[in-house]
Amino acid sequence: MHELATAQDVLSIVQREALVYNAVRVKAIRLRMGVHSHLEPRSLSFCLESIAQDTILEGARVEIVPCEADVECAVCGRFPYDGDAGAEVRCPKCGETAKRMPPTEIYIQEITLDVEDDPIGKESSV
Ligand SMILES: [Zn+2]
Repeated sequence: MHELATAQDVLSIVQREALVYNAVRVKAIRLRMGVHSHLEPRSLSFCLESIAQDTILEGARVEIVPCEADVECAVCGRFPYDGDAGAEVRCPKCGETAKRMPPTEIYIQEITLDVEDDPIGKESSV
């Protein structure tokens, strides 16, 4: 069950991000999945839904987008790339030369969090 292990990785990353931003709920996540990852998108969605129960990810919309030539910057991380797979690519954020992401990998492109207003923070006069 490769999908289950991947789903567990995704869940732990999402939980960590949610903590950092003090989120109360995860609304949606978007995954970019290399075309040679040997993962089955429907099976991965199912695993994610199952393990999301009683976690911050419960009820979140999960979108899995296949990708062939996404790029990876050593500094900024990974970005979607739809251009020529043979061309030299630069990081869309810092402009450094970026390398091609292995098409066997999967990563989280976007996490949409629901962050509750913090009334204590607003009224604080420290
Ligand atoms: Zn960069």
